[in-house]
Amino acid sequence: MADKTLFEKIRDREIPAEILHEDEWCLAFRDISPQAPVHVLVVPRKAIPRIGAATEEDVEILGRLMLAAGEVARRLGVAEDGFRLAINHGRNGGETVPHLHVHLLGGRALGWPPG
Ligand code: 5GP
Repeated sequence: MADKTLFEKIRDREIPAEILHEDEWCLAFRDISPQAPVHVLVVPRKAIPRIGAATEEDVEILGRLMLAAGEVARRLGVAEDGFRLAINHGRNGGETVPHLHVHLLGGRALGWPPG
């Protein structure tokens, strides 16, 4: 069996994280190096490496990730003022962990375009 990804280890409680949400499809936990007052990662339980590797079979998971991100944003109180969801794919996208994750960033005005 392939080595577990970092986020599978968080999923399996082998690495600690502040988990804010968990359901049948995904979990959400605070980023270890927050880039905004609210910085949460929403990750599928399934180790899909990156968004461009998702397939038709992952349609429900992808939808559930978005719903969970919105729900966590509301719960953390950033939905009214606004927030951003970001997915980094590959080297140019800034991906560092090869397990699909949605960044939820909020709590301050975010610049656009991103760097
Ligand atoms: P990427 O650069 O792949 O889009 O995002 C990976 C994110 O994972 C980064 O924002 C990084 O701070 C976060 N991260 C890396 N290692 C850990 C960890 O051990 N725990 C948590 N909670 N976040 C991590």
